[in-house]
Amino acid sequence: MTTLVMKFGGSSVGTKTALTQVLSIVLHEREQWDNLILVVSALDGVTDALIEAAHLAHLGNQRGYRRIVANLRTRHMALIEELPLGATERSALQADIDRLLFDMLGMYETMSNTPAETPVPDLIDATIGVGEKLAARIIAALLRQKDVRSVALDATDLIVTDDTFGNATPDIPLTCERIRTHLLPSLERRIVPVVTGFIGATRTGKPTTLGRGGSDYTASIFAICANANETWIWTGVDGMMTADPREVDSAQVIPRLSYEEVAELAYFGARVLHARMIGPLRDQHIPLRIKNVFKPQQPGTLIHDAPPEPPQQLKAVTSISGIALTAARNGPLSPIRQLVDRTLVATTHTHADVMISSQSATHSLVCFLVPTSAGPDAVHAARTMLEQELRDTPDTAAWTVKPVGIVTVIRDKIDEAPLLIAGIIQCLAGQRILALTLGPSRCSLSIVVEPEQVDQTLLAIHDLIIHQ
Ligand code: ASP
Ligand code: MG
Repeated sequence: MTTLVMKFGGSSVGTKTALTQVLSIVLHEREQWDNLILVVSALDGVTDALIEAAHLAHLGNQRGYRRIVANLRTRHMALIEELPLGATERSALQADIDRLLFDMLGMYETMSNTPAETPVPDLIDATIGVGEKLAARIIAALLRQKDVRSVALDATDLIVTDDTFGNATPDIPLTCERIRTHLLPSLERRIVPVVTGFIGATRTGKPTTLGRGGSDYTASIFAICANANETWIWTGVDGMMTADPREVDSAQVIPRLSYEEVAELAYFGARVLHARMIGPLRDQHIPLRIKNVFKPQQPGTLIHDAPPEPPQQLKAVTSISGIALTAARNGPLSPIRQLVDRTLVATTHTHADVMISSQSATHSLVCFLVPTSAGPDAVHAARTMLEQELRDTPDTAAWTVKPVGIVTVIRDKIDEAPLLIAGIIQCLAGQRILALTLGPSRCSLSIVVEPEQVDQTLLAIHDLIIHQ
C-alpha cells in the first residue's frame, strides 16, 4: 500500500485557476498512489482577517467584525460561483459555509459581550480555524464533482493537543490512535479525505491552533500516523530557495536538502515551511517535497536524509527578526532568560529560544529570535513588554533592549568547513557584527546584525552562495 499526503497552501486554493490546478494534481496522483490524504489551509489572507475580527470582537467593535465576516462570505461565495459544481453540490456547499460563518459570528458576538482585559486566546483559537474548514469543504465538493469519493474532515476531531492556545503541541500517540481508527478505514474505501490544516483540539474538545503556517505541521502529523511514503507541500513558489525571493532577486531553487538543513532554514526564518513539521518526518525518514502548484511538472525541492558527505557548498541564507538584551555589567543570566521567556509566552504564545548568550568581564548579551509563526506584530509586542518589565524589576533595570536581525547560512556539517566560514566572514568586510554563533545542529552559522544591515548582509552572502 502506498500513501501520499499532500498539503495545499493558501495561495494554491484561493482562486479558480489555483483550484483547477489542485484538481488536476489530485486526479493525476490518485492514479499513482493507493491512498491520498489532502490537507488544506485557509484561502490566502483569511486567517489574518479572522484574527483581526477576533480582536475587533474583543474590543466590542461589532461593525468591524461583522464587516470582516461579510467580506469573507462574499469571497467564498464568489469563488464557489465560479467553480464547475452541480446545482445540488453548490447549494449544499453554500449552506455549509453559511452555517460555519453563522456559528463563528455567534462566537464573536459572545466575545464582544464578554468584557476581558486582553483577548482570550482560547476564544481566538475557537474562531480562527474556520478558514480551513471552509477551504476543506470547497475542495472536497470539487473532487466529488469529478467523481472522486471525497469528504471534508475537521482535524479538531483527530488532532489532540495540549492547551497552549495559539501554538499548541499535538499528543502524537493519541492523535495517531484517532487517525488510525477514524481515517484509515475510509482510505481502504478509496475515499480521499480533505483535512483542515492548522487546527486541533484539547482532550476536552477545546479548539486549538498549531501556530501560524501550522497546516504544514498537520500534514506531517498525518504522514507519520498514516505511515505515508511521502509528503508533498504544494505552494505558490518553485521550492525551497537559496534566499527569500522577495528579498533577493537572484534566489534559486535548491534541488535537495537534508531534514536538518530544512529544519534550520524554517527555524531561522524561511517562510516556506512551519518549523515544527520536519522533526516527525525526519524521525520516520518520510521524504518531503516542496512543489509549485502552478508548475507541477517541475521537481521542486526534495528533502530527505543527509548524504554521508555533504557537497562543498553553502545551501541557503535566511534572515529573521530577533531581540537583543544588553547590559554593561556581568552577572547571572537566568533572571533575564526567565523574563524573556515569560514575555514571549505572554505576547506570542511561544517559549523564548535564546540563541546566544554571552558575557565578558564587563558586558552581557542575550539574543533570541522571535519565530515567524508568532505573527508579524510579535517583535514589536515582545519588545514593548520587555522594556516595561525590565524597568519595573529592580534587578534588571541595567538592561536595555534593541531589535536585531539574525542572518543565518545553512549547510550540513558547516563546522567542518572552516574555509567556507572564512569566505562568509570575508564577504562581510566593513560591516558591524553584533554576535556570531555556530548552531548546535552543525548546519547553521548565524550572524547577528543591526536591523538596517540585514539586507546588505543577505545580499553579500547570497552572492557568495550562487557564485561558489
Ligand atoms: N491558515 C493558517 C495561517 O495562515 C495556517 C496555514 O496557512 O498553514 O497561518
Ligand atoms: Mg505556509
